[in-house]
Amino acid sequence: MAVIGAGISGSVAAYRARAALGPAATIDVFEAASHPGGLLSARTVGGRTVDAGAESFIVRRPEAVALIAELGLDTHVVRPTGRRPALLATGVLRELPRPTLMGIPATVDAVDDVIAPADRALMADESRRPLSWSPGDDVAIGELVARRFGRSVVDRSVDPMLSGVYSCHSDDIGVRAALPQLAARLDAGAPSLGAAISSLLPPPSSAPVFGAIDEGYRLLIDTLLETAGTRLHRECAVSAVRPSGARWEVHSATDTTVADAVLVCVPASAAALILADGVPEVAAALRRVEIAGSGLVLLALRDDLQLPDHSGVLVATGEATRAKAITLSSQKWSHLSGGPVLVRASFGRLGDPIDTIDDETLITSAVADLDLISGLSGGPSIGAEDVIDAVVQRWPVGLPRYAPGHLDIVAAVAAGRPRGLALCGSAYDGVGVPACVKRADGAVAQIVGDLAATG
Ligand SMILES: Cc1cc2nc3c(=O)[nH]c(=O)nc-3n(C[C@H](O)[C@H](O)[C@H](O)COP(=O)(O)OP(=O)(O)OC[C@H]3O[C@@H](n4cnc5c(N)ncnc54)[C@H](O)[C@@H]3O)c2cc1C
Repeated sequence: MAVIGAGISGSVAAYRARAALGPAATIDVFEAASHPGGLLSARTVGGRTVDAGAESFIVRRPEAVALIAELGLDTHVVRPTGRRPALLATGVLRELPRPTLMGIPATVDAVDDVIAPADRALMADESRRPLSWSPGDDVAIGELVARRFGRSVVDRSVDPMLSGVYSCHSDDIGVRAALPQLAARLDAGAPSLGAAISSLLPPPSSAPVFGAIDEGYRLLIDTLLETAGTRLHRECAVSAVRPSGARWEVHSATDTTVADAVLVCVPASAAALILADGVPEVAAALRRVEIAGSGLVLLALRDDLQLPDHSGVLVATGEATRAKAITLSSQKWSHLSGGPVLVRASFGRLGDPIDTIDDETLITSAVADLDLISGLSGGPSIGAEDVIDAVVQRWPVGLPRYAPGHLDIVAAVAAGRPRGLALCGSAYDGVGVPACVKRADGAVAQIVGDLAATG
């Protein structure tokens, strides 16, 4: 068995493959980087090692929580302190609108103090305007919400949420792939957007939405790969995978490995290159997935600095900051409190890349944005003199764009999947870590089925 890519998707795939195939199977894991983990990667800032890609997981979904428990790591799970994120909109630091579904409110009450006056009237009237939707339709979330509720609801409530999760504006993200439950309600004939959202809002709860691992995601990756007992080939980028009779050739710059089955667990753009010769229909579908790059500035600040009493700040479209979000890590997570004050500022989205901005400028921007937010909440001014350490982490291949029509790509990949090869990663059934875990489980089940069928 060959596993290509050792991010969370490939690491889970290798672990599940070992459980399914038993101790005698050889599992080769090929990883282009010098270390496994992909977007689950750590950096050291101010003497603290912190997650420098994904930092948390949704606990309302079962997959990550169950996997961590299965590995015996549940004592390492930490919950946020309970401080809430704020919203920077119209130059003011505010409460984040709630309740919402990914920033989409059901009624005007949730967003009343933040939206434009004209959009208040539009929202109040929404249930009386006919909703044009046919089953199977797909449209950008931004377009749908702007049409029904007004542009200010998009800019000030939906974009701040989607920019973080997808590194895209809501005008770039399709309803059907990103919010399938909303598409289903609209297909079923919901009379208005407000009614559809209202039926989907979870009951109010004070339970935390997110969890994290006290030692960082590296603990999860290392445990998965150690338990899987694989042959991990580091700095070994796979250039092509081609069928060879009933088996598969895996080509890298230095070697060709022949395997009974292959799990392709790399981003869509890399998978398209790897499969271009061997499985061209699947590669053609994957080439249609755009990738949004992003980056983080991790700051360690002097330990007596007072920050706003929030877990972080999400930024509305059109605000004066360069950052799209700022996580006040030491205030969000108690295991990161004490010692230097830790902050992570997020930059970049589809159409707003950061690759032409140098590290120094990004760090200066992060400090300036933090200063702005501190000032808005009546806190101290913050400048370069308060910074103990700063690290820039870039993710040029960050998140796949779930454009309107994205599920057609996913269907084409499924239809073109040859026996003995399966794909997993964030491009298919959801971008979060739990969704990647679920997809990897499913990909291994497909391969096990294929191997059983061929004897
Ligand atoms: C900045 C950021 C923050 C995020 N925060 C969160 C969060 O807090 N919670 C959450 O649930 N999700 C979060 N996400 C999403 C989540 O991190 C990803 O969707 C998930 O980690 C993807 O895992 P993966 O294994 O599919 O891909 P990746 O992590 O991209 O791993 C793919 C691996 O394949 C390797 N590779 C690529 N090409 C080749 C090749 N040719 N040969 C061999 N190896 C190759 C890469 O080096 C990499 O190690 C975040 C994403 C970003 C960008």
